Amino acid sequence: KKNIGILTSGGDAQGMNPCVRAVVRMAIARNCNPYLIYEGYQGLVDGGDKIKAAKWSDVSGFLTLGGTLIGTARCMAFRELEGRRTGVLNLIKNGIDALVVIGGDGSLTGADKLRAEWPSHVEALEKDGRISKESADKYRTLMIVGMVGSIDNDLASTDMTIGASSALTRICESVDAILSTALSHQRAFVVEVMGRHCGWLALNAAISTGADYLFIPEAPPKNDDWETAMCNTLKASRDAGKRTSLVIVAEGAIDRNLNPIKAEYVKDVLAQRLGYDTRVTILGHVQRGGAPVHFDRFLGTMQGAEAVEAILRATPETPSPVIGMLENKITTQPLKEAIQLTGEVAASIGRKDFARAMELRSNAFGQ
Ligand code: ATP
Repeated sequence: KKNIGILTSGGDAQGMNPCVRAVVRMAIARNCNPYLIYEGYQGLVDGGDKIKAAKWSDVSGFLTLGGTLIGTARCMAFRELEGRRTGVLNLIKNGIDALVVIGGDGSLTGADKLRAEWPSHVEALEKDGRISKESADKYRTLMIVGMVGSIDNDLASTDMTIGASSALTRICESVDAILSTALSHQRAFVVEVMGRHCGWLALNAAISTGADYLFIPEAPPKNDDWETAMCNTLKASRDAGKRTSLVIVAEGAIDRNLNPIKAEYVKDVLAQRLGYDTRVTILGHVQRGGAPVHFDRFLGTMQGAEAVEAILRATPETPSPVIGMLENKITTQPLKEAIQLTGEVAASIGRKDFARAMELRSNAFGQ
């Protein structure tokens, strides 16, 4: 009978609540004890009433609500060794022998660190007399299961992260609304979308809204004089009769020399060179808002259930997994590899190897 702790960390994402609900209820259905850890890693470090045993009814109503009802936080203490050690102590005090972390790239990097350091923390806590030898022997290993809750869809090793579909839906609704006014006034709109260093939201938004031009970090413009290339493309479509121009800019967009491409600058280029009445819309936090769409409810639920099964299947030798989805199947892969692969995307962009970055993203970007 396992005691399973669950926390959400980093930026909130629609679908985290369905995922928490599924872990709690699947744990109970499998005769385990779920514990909710409030406010992400901060709750783990603080302990006390931030860690509570959960009942079936504690997650009633979670399925359809956005955000994360158990709270999330950016926790500086968890970035430090001593903070993580206090977290280990709190887990052991509560008798928790498996930890489920639902969060983005940063949160899972933290989880992977905790996984790698776990035995040394237990040893140090025993040496300091903060836990008994019996406790140390009982908690020599901890199973950590990661699930990617992030609107950015920026983790290698899964086609979709929990929240990305809802954010994309919100973006499409917003751009549709913008386009009706753009059409009336023959305006150009430059829309900045979230995604940190990942262009998935921007790329999919561009395809789904029929944008005229797109900037994403993994595939910067091939030409140094991208301004002229962009103006030529937009002008050609206006000449062919189109009344609007829509440019989508990922928040992490860059040129081939790794300089940021900002929406305001794109606007100035269009206004000055083409004379278009151009407006910028930075969609911001509306992208994280609202109820999870069907797919995120489904993905959170299926992955949450699989997380509990993965814990029950595990032996002390099983590497900590991340639950993902590849080709419509729920998958279980080593967390360490997923984090390494994700790190490689940023490293490839850093050395201007954009082809490699796209290759690493290909499971999420499609062909
Ligand atoms: P999102 O993708 O939505 O921004 P995220 O999980 O990437 O979510 P971060 O702010 O990067 O968000 O990370 C959340 C928390 O995870 C941090 O506040 C910190 O407590 C922990 N964390 C992140 N990176 C590390 C790291 N390298 N080592 C230890 N802990 C980390």
